[in-house]
Amino acid sequence: MKEYSSDFVYDIKYATDATFLNAKVYDCPACYMRLKTVKALIKANKDFEKRGFKIKIWDCYRPLDVQIKMWKIVPDPRYVADPNKGSIHNRGGAVDVTLVDKYGKELDMGTVFDFFGKEASHKYLNLPKNILLNRRLLKRIMVANGFKSLNSEWWHYDLKTAIADPISNAKWSCD
Ligand SMILES: [Zn+2]
Repeated sequence: MKEYSSDFVYDIKYATDATFLNAKVYDCPACYMRLKTVKALIKANKDFEKRGFKIKIWDCYRPLDVQIKMWKIVPDPRYVADPNKGSIHNRGGAVDVTLVDKYGKELDMGTVFDFFGKEASHKYLNLPKNILLNRRLLKRIMVANGFKSLNSEWWHYDLKTAIADPISNAKWSCD
């Protein structure tokens, strides 16, 4: 992603142990995805920038071996995609994102990343209006740029045309 645009903010969560896994599953932070996903995300980011925001990226492409590692830590399909089926993250077509303002401050989306509870769902409407508006803005622009939302996770978006793409296990270098 960094080769194509410098307009994103990164906080690659799985390169830290501060996630629900309590384990660092990436050796180093990196954000790779299919070129069509990159292009769609750059377009979405330009739309957000017109409104004074930009995308902060939490996760991108995820090698299948990492999916297996995550599944071993939390073998529950409610929280981790079964590596036998694979996630769109393993296909280079999914991103976990939020929005930041011009000062780099995250917009209030009501929950943290990987919060597994009903409050993270797009269907959960018992939230302050500003939070609902922030989520709606994220969804509207992402959907307008070819992404599909996931009901249970407000931060997760799949590029529609990548859903049936092959799973990959390519790794990035940490040198
Ligand atoms: Zn995701």
